[in-house]
Amino acid sequence: MYDYHLHTAFSADSDADPDDIINAAIHKGLEEIALTDHYDPMYRDPDFPFELDFTGYTEMLGRVTAQYKDEITIKKGIELGMQPGAPNRICAETAAAFPFDFIIGSVHCARGVSLDTPDYLAPRTPEQAVTDYYDDMLAAITDFTDFDVLGHINYVERYIERIPDETVYMNRIEQILKKLIELGKGIEINTSSYRYGLKDTTPTMPILKLYKKLGGEIVTTGSDAHKAADVGDHLEAAGHMLREAGIDYIATYKNRKPTLHKLK
Ligand SMILES: [Zn+2]
Ligand SMILES: [Zn+2]
Repeated sequence: MYDYHLHTAFSADSDADPDDIINAAIHKGLEEIALTDHYDPMYRDPDFPFELDFTGYTEMLGRVTAQYKDEITIKKGIELGMQPGAPNRICAETAAAFPFDFIIGSVHCARGVSLDTPDYLAPRTPEQAVTDYYDDMLAAITDFTDFDVLGHINYVERYIERIPDETVYMNRIEQILKKLIELGKGIEINTSSYRYGLKDTTPTMPILKLYKKLGGEIVTTGSDAHKAADVGDHLEAAGHMLREAGIDYIATYKNRKPTLHKLK
């Protein structure tokens, strides 16, 4: 199994020691992991600036890939917070500045504000919160394309009080998925939805099936763990979701190139 979405204390919202995260993955018998600490340029929340100590981070990645190479394959990743305009310019510089194996492009903000704040949620109905989010996501992946998979596509559902009927947003998702497929990008199954007790998986089965129907075939799986206890969480469930969607492969990355592994 592969856990391709993992945070350590290099992310503003985690205090996990990278070695503890890696040892948890080894202990769980995972074949391969990607460390994907979080950089969200121009994130407007002073409590969580989501800046990244690149010197320390890249040193750590270099150390752990060598140190643990006989026990587990570790890929050098990052989760970039995309926003159209100036933040995406910084994402582009970041993606080019270091030889990452794998880049998750995620959308944590829409209309310039963080999705989990009253600034975003209070003036919007759930319908508007969802449609503004997907409109910005499409704009973000049109404006910046140097990522490998789109992170937690229906992330906005974590914060809205009620999930609107999918007819409200599915046409937007279809445009996003078509764009990703055209660009050769993947999506991820993010199993944190199970830990948050969400009604829907991330992505939902209709979204995963639509990606497959449109010709998509690149899917990574990740726990989005921010602490050692969550490493590898629900990866079996992610495998079941892939099978149910008729996707027979799971993707890993090296030097930004995907390899598709037949599901066991
Ligand atoms: Zn994220
Ligand atoms: Zn994450």
